[in-house]
Amino acid sequence: MALGEFFSKLIPTDLFSGLALTGSYFFKKKSTVQYPEERTEPSPRFRGMFGYDVDRCIDCHLCAKACPIDIIFIRDHTEVEEDPETGKKKKRKVIDRYDIDVKRCMFCGLCEEACPTEPKSIWLTTKTYETATYERNERLYFTKERLMSWEGVTAYPGVVPPDKGMLPEDPSGAGAREKAAGGEAA
Ligand code: SF4
Ligand code: SF4
Repeated sequence: MALGEFFSKLIPTDLFSGLALTGSYFFKKKSTVQYPEERTEPSPRFRGMFGYDVDRCIDCHLCAKACPIDIIFIRDHTEVEEDPETGKKKKRKVIDRYDIDVKRCMFCGLCEEACPTEPKSIWLTTKTYETATYERNERLYFTKERLMSWEGVTAYPGVVPPDKGMLPEDPSGAGAREKAAGGEAA
């Protein structure tokens, strides 16, 4: 046995290089968090729980047509209203049902892309992903009321449900609330 081979067997150099690599991580910034006490903030483009605003929605059905797996269900009826001043009659569409079967959703975002309103009436950039449930058929089927209120969903910290003024680009609702406060003050 050569002398070099003898010393390499005697001194466990591989062990020391392994320990040095492990030790170097002690000084690096931690990339894990203590979930659920801590959460990492999703990127602004992250697609999570849906936001929906029935007041902005113009009932065009484009989102339902764009969905590749047909999980958006819309039902509506038309009402005829008379203008009290002019006496003219005009038609108005009323959304009776706007449901999304979220358990089948693949979060492709095509529905959001197809929505023509500005801001969007349906959007997924809500940073919210905690929708786990024991009853997926019932609890992951969202009616328009639940899409607005997020009943049963744990919102990402600082994010408010759509019925509290959330906008696609403003999940905290702060911008919408400021706008509303400005409008009230005016
Ligand atoms: S994100 Fe979901 S609901 Fe929207 S188009 Fe894709 S599969 Fe359909
Ligand atoms: S595409 Fe937008 S405006 Fe049209 S029905 Fe869907 S959510 Fe409403």
